[in-house]
Amino acid sequence: MRKLILASNNQKKIKEIKHILGDMDLEVRSLKDENIDIDVVEDGITFMENANKKAREIRDYLISRGEEKFLVMADDSGLEVEFLNGEPGVYSARYAGEHGDDAKNNDKLLKNLEGVKAENRGAKFVCHITLINYEGKSLDIRGEVNGRIIEKLNGEGGFGYDPLFYYEGFNKTFGEATPEEKNSISHRGVALKELKEKIYKVL
Ligand code: IMP
Repeated sequence: MRKLILASNNQKKIKEIKHILGDMDLEVRSLKDENIDIDVVEDGITFMENANKKAREIRDYLISRGEEKFLVMADDSGLEVEFLNGEPGVYSARYAGEHGDDAKNNDKLLKNLEGVKAENRGAKFVCHITLINYEGKSLDIRGEVNGRIIEKLNGEGGFGYDPLFYYEGFNKTFGEATPEEKNSISHRGVALKELKEKIYKVL
């Protein structure tokens, strides 16, 4: 079975990805599972640049370790809010300064949207995935989902900005949606669905 290494340390994201890829003939492994202690600096200005960089650096490391027949998957994702001209974008994880502090990031987002009417609170989640194989052959995929930022947190599910992201089709936030509901239409879910259809190109 081909090994697919996820170039991420975000445990909640890894869980989502493992769940979605669960029915594939792949052994899905995290960096931790592989004893890889590399924190790739995400200094790109687009999701694509960051995903490419993460995938390539982890591939280079695995090659230097003498591994072969593997695949590396890196995703870079975030939230783009129309009223904020696409912010927080590639800075989504560290919007309030500290990497991965969801509560502070949500607070900052709410502050920056204070007094903004519902019709101007449109936002989208974006997910860029780069898949690269041991030979260096790669595949790039982008998924998006549109929604709106509500005025206070709602729901305990998911992670990051999920409790603030209202999705019209469900009439609730991603924080209130079940994992199955979220994965069926989310930026990451959509991108992974396409990845499943195209993965044969890099196997
Ligand atoms: P990444 O790990 O560098 O891709 O950063 C992603 C950041 O964007 C996360 O820390 C969250 O703040 C936000 N984000 C990405 N995907 C989601 C999602 O599905 N729900 C909520 N927040 C997300």
